[in-house]
Amino acid sequence: MNKNCKHCHQNFDARRRNHLYCTLSCKTLASYKRNNYRYVSGHYQKDNMLPEIQESSLAVSQLENDSKPKMLEANKQTINFKSVSNAAIGSVAADTVSYGLKKMLAPQSLPATKGDFERLKNDMEELKRLLFQSKNGF
Ligand SMILES: [Zn+2]
Repeated sequence: MNKNCKHCHQNFDARRRNHLYCTLSCKTLASYKRNNYRYVSGHYQKDNMLPEIQESSLAVSQLENDSKPKMLEANKQTINFKSVSNAAIGSVAADTVSYGLKKMLAPQSLPATKGDFERLKNDMEELKRLLFQSKNGF
């Protein structure tokens, strides 16, 4: 049966109806692609979480000092914003954190002013408030 390979789109002769790929290598490569592997010097490696999310986890762990939402207690080091039920919280957090980290990690390119820190502080307060509300089911 003539089919087009799902990965390289070349025509091939499928021996079974459920064959999707022309070769084992196409099947493997397609699976890598689906699972976000990338080619690094000689082999494929699974991509880790997005760097933004890792950075966010770091910064949020610093918020736990006073309000201590349950969520943070459960897993202090790795908060995954994808798992936060309210998407709004995730986006506020991501904005706050990426803005703050840019200021902190690249001070030479973006000199931080007193206003920047005020803004960051306000954003952090807002984030804490949202997390608190979420804990108490709004
Ligand atoms: Zn193929």
